[in-house]
Amino acid sequence: MIGAPVSPRPPEAAVLEVQDLGRDFDVSPPWLERTLARRGRTLVRAVDGVGFSIGAGETFGLVGESGCGKSTVARLVAGLFRPSRGSIRLEGAPLGAGQRGEDRSRVAMVFQDPQASLDPRWRAADIVTEALRGRAQPRERRERAGRLLQLVGLAEADGHKHPHQFSGGQRQRLSIARALAAEPRLLVCDEPTSALDVSVQAQILNLISDLQRDLGFACLFISHDLAVVRHVATRVGVMYLGRLVETGEARSALGAPRHPYTRMLLDAVPDVTLGGRTRSAVAGEVPSPLHPPPGCAFHPRCPHADERCRLERPSLLAVGGGVEVACHAVEEGRI
Ligand code: SF4
Repeated sequence: MIGAPVSPRPPEAAVLEVQDLGRDFDVSPPWLERTLARRGRTLVRAVDGVGFSIGAGETFGLVGESGCGKSTVARLVAGLFRPSRGSIRLEGAPLGAGQRGEDRSRVAMVFQDPQASLDPRWRAADIVTEALRGRAQPRERRERAGRLLQLVGLAEADGHKHPHQFSGGQRQRLSIARALAAEPRLLVCDEPTSALDVSVQAQILNLISDLQRDLGFACLFISHDLAVVRHVATRVGVMYLGRLVETGEARSALGAPRHPYTRMLLDAVPDVTLGGRTRSAVAGEVPSPLHPPPGCAFHPRCPHADERCRLERPSLLAVGGGVEVACHAVEEGRI
């Protein structure tokens, strides 16, 4: 049954609460060029009205094609970008961009490319305890580095090595150890396995799941790969052109998807019964965020689009089973 928007979990249980989050980027040409052409500024709305919450020990998977805004959400939550609108709260307290020290260390991030995110001049032990500089004595930091390296499946003796002496999977383990050094309450993982060989992807996913079970942190997991998200996430949010179009328990939202976009993404996941071939390719391309389509932004690619879809933007509405969907056809019972 379609109803009013629902909050999937009580706010008091949330480690992270994101409400009505928005971020615009100024992509204007240089001032002189604009002045001569008598044009105003050009803003791209990368994230618009995004809201979700994550409880302790829970993983929220944010999925969508490249350019849908999911990595911008990750960077907003991690404090690397300042929100244009909305709020981000960690354990009830507002989390502003640019905060330093204790507040910010409660959120840690693991990036897509461990090679690029680790300083090649530093030894592993120094990389891992970077967040503890000024907060712990050198000896304490050395001991802690050894424990963290072992926690992620590396050897204490690896602390003397430089990043180039590790394999890709080991480098990502090093990134995870660094992220856990300050005992974060929230771990933000932005495509943590997409730069790795397929053979080590599952090892890294299992490591994150094991660490989360043992340490109890909440996790925001960003991926374009629904098979990966289905493996790790408790709940999911599907994004399209900066907005959430479907959220809910991973089992419901990905097991029996309601939104046509989620269905299209799932249809493109390789099926083992088809020998690893995809069932059908993702149709069409994501429109430019500079010129988003009116109404439902998905309407140029949607087989169920009608006149209302072309004119009116759908809101996220509860459809039962803890799932929310932004789609007129679902609301009208057409699909
Ligand atoms: Fe398709 Fe219309 Fe639903 Fe958008 S609102 S997904 S265009 S049916």
